Amino acid sequence: MNIVISRIIKRAADRENSVAMKSNALHLYTDVFTSLGIAFSLLLVHLTGWLWLDPLIAILTAFYIMYEAWKLLKESFPPLMDKRLSPSEEAEIKRIIMTHQADFIEFHDFRSRRAGAQEYIDFHLVVANNQTIEQAHSLCDVIEKEIYDFYAKAQVLIHLEPEEEKILTK
Ligand SMILES: [Zn+2]
Repeated sequence: MNIVISRIIKRAADRENSVAMKSNALHLYTDVFTSLGIAFSLLLVHLTGWLWLDPLIAILTAFYIMYEAWKLLKESFPPLMDKRLSPSEEAEIKRIIMTHQADFIEFHDFRSRRAGAQEYIDFHLVVANNQTIEQAHSLCDVIEKEIYDFYAKAQVLIHLEPEEEKILTK
């Protein structure tokens, strides 16, 4: 009975991609395999008289359950960890940007996000109108490169804006 229910839940969970439902299915699977393991080992011990089969089957069942749990864990963490960088990491990146303060007017709309091992950083950079595209672009390259020194896998996106886009904060 449990195995039928857990199958149904698992199929629905796969369809909905719901981690909660999958863990529910896993819980039922666990019950099923524990029960099956006990019944199976009792039967085998009875038939063969080999008492060591019982702990062996218990261990194998436990390993199987851990393996399923591990798979579920790996699946459920990345979406939960899709969040912004810590305040100290953000401060460090902003500090890197500010070391080039002389070459731009201000920056705003700073956003950071981490999904798994990948960081995403983007912000608007306001440069003086007398800067050429070449100059502004090479400034972006320098800032990006310095961020990559800290976060090698990061994706940095700098949106360049003219003076008029300056956000008056003071
Ligand atoms: Zn802007």
